[in-house]
Amino acid sequence: MEKFHCLECDKDFKPGDWICMPGVQHRVATKRYFMDDAPTVTEWRDGRPYINKGASQTVILNIPPERMIREGEQTTRLPGGSVIFIRVCYETADPEIQFHLDRKAGLCTEQRWREVYLNDDEKFQIKNLDLAAREQRLVDRENDLLSSVKARTREVAKA
Ligand SMILES: [Zn+2]
Repeated sequence: MEKFHCLECDKDFKPGDWICMPGVQHRVATKRYFMDDAPTVTEWRDGRPYINKGASQTVILNIPPERMIREGEQTTRLPGGSVIFIRVCYETADPEIQFHLDRKAGLCTEQRWREVYLNDDEKFQIKNLDLAAREQRLVDRENDLLSSVKARTREVAKA
């Protein structure tokens, strides 16, 4: 049986028991969802085709689906919601939305999405960003070392 854990009230709960306190849903660990058939817009950049996934937005309707709430004699219809995937990604801490997205076809985990749906160009871009970040960390570290050496040299000079 699937169980969720609420970060607000620190309780485990079952799908369907979404309410934490009156009017407030439980809140769980954030989960990211990716679309595996994301629409892409091809642009030309520097004479080469470029897929700008940043420009894509997809709305998924009826997540969470419409619900009927029965209170005594009265039945209230709670309209369904919708989620918007931006850059093929959607992130949520709402367990009810997670529950339905987990069951939805056409979505996948971040890892699979990176493996399968990023084209070589994008993998290259991400790698370059990672490398640039690593380089910057090295430069920062070098500067730190340099300034600590300088500080020490000054201390020695003073002594
Ligand atoms: Zn809770």
